[in-house]
Amino acid sequence: MPKQLHRNINYLRVSVTDRCNLRCIYCMPKEGLSLLGHNDILRYEEILRVVRAAMPEGITKVRLTGGEPLARKGLAEFISTLTGLKGLTDISLTTNGILLADHAEAIYQAGIRRINISLDSLNPERYRTITRGGSLETVLRGIRKAAEVGFSPIKINIVLMKGTNDDEILDFAKATLRWPYQVRFIEMMPIGRDNTEAVTEYLSNDVALDRIGRMFKLDYLGENGAPENRGPARRYRIEGAKGEIGFISPISHEFCDNCNRLRLTADGHLRACLLSDDEIDLKPELRSGCSDEVLKALIRKAIASKPAGKSTLPGDPSPKKCRRQMSAIGG
Ligand code: SAM
Ligand code: SF4
Repeated sequence: MPKQLHRNINYLRVSVTDRCNLRCIYCMPKEGLSLLGHNDILRYEEILRVVRAAMPEGITKVRLTGGEPLARKGLAEFISTLTGLKGLTDISLTTNGILLADHAEAIYQAGIRRINISLDSLNPERYRTITRGGSLETVLRGIRKAAEVGFSPIKINIVLMKGTNDDEILDFAKATLRWPYQVRFIEMMPIGRDNTEAVTEYLSNDVALDRIGRMFKLDYLGENGAPENRGPARRYRIEGAKGEIGFISPISHEFCDNCNRLRLTADGHLRACLLSDDEIDLKPELRSGCSDEVLKALIRKAIASKPAGKSTLPGDPSPKKCRRQMSAIGG
């Protein structure tokens, strides 16, 4: 397994589409983004080829994301092919949950078990405002359905924004008393947005932890995963709660040194770092009938190009000039 600076690069995040049925204020401009044409997006067979080629290079975990992955036709069939690959130990999905009630059964049957659902407010009006039109009730129905069909773990992701949803920190924390899910606060990253709102809206997760800690007795559960392969969430549980609270803090507590991820964009670019526009375009090779060896060499090149850590992001919430928006990278 290739190691980079004592990290195992074993996790591939795949954006299966740049399209989305929401327009979250921190992720996309109001007018949306100019979308890729169908021919620009990797076909499922092409994604599968990349995953297959990445496995001997150390990839064992794949997360499907987007845009909104459930908005792409044929996702359940694609998941079945992925879950049939021996050697992948973990296949998961990140979704906004709007289409989840309709698709939960099929994607569970296809073999996926772990799901992350983005939910930035428990207030219907506010949810509509943040997502520019989404229905909270529809997402809650999706979460209930996911639990009913057996998804576990279910993680609920909240991007915190000062003055927008930070007054709900305690409401989300309290929800873990009855929800057997991991509720995770994520610091807003100032990626790709062509404005400066991100600076004023940024809220350190230390503030959230402090507010929750004043109200509830919290047990520290540690970080996700084994030490050499650690996920970025620091986890806690309110005494007696059914669920957990996690903090993902890329700005106040950077975790670049431990980053084990590669990203494949919907248009077939491999990206070694969320914050760097250095990418390797796999599409021309894929479409000119390249050999698996060529593909593997490009994957090794991406792995080798992974920065040592300590990006410019930690402690600095000012907007970065990434060429791509978060919806195009996949989060
Ligand atoms: N549409 C799906 C969703 O919303 O879950 C998947 C794609 S979305 C880009 C993946 C994750 O990125 C979501 O949890 C979203 O909240 C997060 N995200 C998007 N923009 C972000 C930002 N500026 N800072 C932090 N997280 C962000
Ligand atoms: Fe769409 Fe997810 Fe971005 Fe919201 S965060 S606009 S749901 S891709």
